[in-house]
Amino acid sequence: MSAPNHPHPGPLPPAGEVDWTRVRDDFPLLKREVHGKPLVYLDSANTGQKPAAVIEATDDFYRRHNANVSRAVHTLGSEATDAYEGARRKLAAFLNVQRDDLVLCSGTTFAINLAAYSWALPRLKAGDTILITRMEHHANIVPWQLVAQRTGATIKVAELLPDGSLDLDALHAAMTADVKLLAIAHVSNVLGTVNPVAAICREARKRGIVTVVDGSQAAPHMAVDIPAIGCDFYAITGHKMCGATGTGALWARREHLQAMPPFIGGGEMIKEVRFDGTVFNDPPHKFEAGTPNIAGFIGLGAAVDYLSALGMDNVAAREGELLAHATEELRKVDGLRIFGEARHKAAVISFQVEGAHAHDLATLLDLEGVAVRSGQHCAHPLLHWFGVAATCRASLAFYNTHDEVDAFVAALRKVRRLLV
Ligand code: PLP
Repeated sequence: MSAPNHPHPGPLPPAGEVDWTRVRDDFPLLKREVHGKPLVYLDSANTGQKPAAVIEATDDFYRRHNANVSRAVHTLGSEATDAYEGARRKLAAFLNVQRDDLVLCSGTTFAINLAAYSWALPRLKAGDTILITRMEHHANIVPWQLVAQRTGATIKVAELLPDGSLDLDALHAAMTADVKLLAIAHVSNVLGTVNPVAAICREARKRGIVTVVDGSQAAPHMAVDIPAIGCDFYAITGHKMCGATGTGALWARREHLQAMPPFIGGGEMIKEVRFDGTVFNDPPHKFEAGTPNIAGFIGLGAAVDYLSALGMDNVAAREGELLAHATEELRKVDGLRIFGEARHKAAVISFQVEGAHAHDLATLLDLEGVAVRSGQHCAHPLLHWFGVAATCRASLAFYNTHDEVDAFVAALRKVRRLLV
């Protein structure tokens, strides 16, 4: 299989020495125009754009290697299987875990549902509590509600401080003896808050609480070392980290994977099937019934190569600079309120402009070529807590530029004048 295109072959560039203009050139879509204006894409928390290396790896698979995995002995079949398992190996190295502990699936939503249905559903009972936080994405709320409904367990919510950070004292106090599971975002998709998940998981572990960390918004933006976090489960989604939609993974401690029953059944996840009983495959394959998104995972493998070559610390530093610039400029806009100003924050800025509806702002910004998301960001309980119906959200990635930040703020000032 052809080697993925590395944007910066060789040793990692030292922090601050990456040529970010060249990096941006790797993203074909960022060259397009929208409504006759250069596109300013500020919706990476929703889905990330893809570098040519990812598009080419996917294209190359379909042009030269397409076959199903883990079934055929012919050449294409083994090439496809090698490339698919190679992607698992790359992703595992990226997260500093063993590849056999990484279940490949369609994304964080599936990953959390897998933990919910295979780990929590058979174990929890009336009297048990599932602890979640106010800032969770619906993908880390609804599966636990479904488990609670079916087991009689209850859900407890850890609240936030006004700056959008977790109230850690309250969180620790909420870890009472009835709490069996804590489900928590590593990074909030609305506020950008980076939660101190290693310290939180340490506290949970002392109390025997199993931890599920939603890493959807962390893995694309910072180095993630799962063993250093010390959680029980960690979920990621590939499309936010330069990979294809329909790709993601659930990492779990091996003892959990071995003890958990399969979530869905079918081909690939078995060793032997008889009408009087089936012997399941070993993890992670036990949880991977059916034909996976092979090309998507091969693209995700290329995405991991790409991000690794940039260096995740460099990515985090670059995005930190863009966040600081954008925050400073937005604070100067009359009537603008930012939601989420935690000290440790990823490059996500939710905001409202007094007198302007978020959807109107986003629609008019689009006419200026600026793509931001508006609405409730799959986090209804969080927006209710802030007492607002909707916000706009600008989310930046390393491929954005300082000029784009300025163009965004200029466009915002312009559309504000039309609305207020
Ligand atoms: N969790 C968080 C924090 C997210 O931001 C998202 C996506 O926006 C998800 C979970 C769900 O990810 P997916 O739709 O890829 O399964």
